Amino acid sequence: MSMGVDSFVSWLRDVAGSLHANAAYLTELDSAIGDADHGANLDRGFQAVVEVLDGTEFGSVDELLKKAGMTLVSKVGGASGPLYGTFFLRFGTALAGVELTPEALGKGLHAGVEGVLARGKAELGDKTMYDAWAPALSAYDDAVAGGADLGTALNAAAEAAAKGRDGTVPMVARKGRASYLGERSAGHQDPGATSTTLILESAARTLS
Ligand code: ADP
Ligand code: MG
Ligand code: MG
Repeated sequence: MSMGVDSFVSWLRDVAGSLHANAAYLTELDSAIGDADHGANLDRGFQAVVEVLDGTEFGSVDELLKKAGMTLVSKVGGASGPLYGTFFLRFGTALAGVELTPEALGKGLHAGVEGVLARGKAELGDKTMYDAWAPALSAYDDAVAGGADLGTALNAAAEAAAKGRDGTVPMVARKGRASYLGERSAGHQDPGATSTTLILESAARTLS
């Protein structure tokens, strides 16, 4: 495994491409239970991240991820900007000065998701992005504990995220805008759980 700044740059660029390609889909999901801007929010945010990547050479993975996080916080309004921004900030912070093993990456992912929880106070079953993150982290941890390499662990995480995303469909939202709809939020897939799955699918493609 040789993971360095270039791998993480490839990941962020791939995420930007995937969110751009899926922007209309994410916005359509958000139009059912939110305010129809999730795709546009993330597309704008990650285009700004790509502009930063185009103009900056990063010496370390932690600097790169922290800058991506700060860019998302500053460019994306709404719930998802601060949440994903915090994820990348905490992920980067956790990777500062550590060897990038699958275990270290797992700790970084946990730190990022703890940041999402600190900010958004979501619990499992609230019909948010956390319903994709939580099973993804468990699957990742299990894979690494079983001796899997990074690519295998990230594939397991992405598959678990997709199942978690699908599991949001029957849920009644208890956080974010969708919670304003109460019972009427049931029967729709959560946009944030969908974008989280895309981000992890991209990680599985680029970070192994
Ligand atoms: P907004 O709802 O402000 O328009 P977005 O549409 O960009 O923001 O993002 C909506 C997504 O953010 C939701 O689908 C959900 O997954 C996620 N979300 C909203 N509130 C929270 C929260 N408190 N904790 C975790 N995720 C949340
Ligand atoms: Mg929205
Ligand atoms: Mg909004």
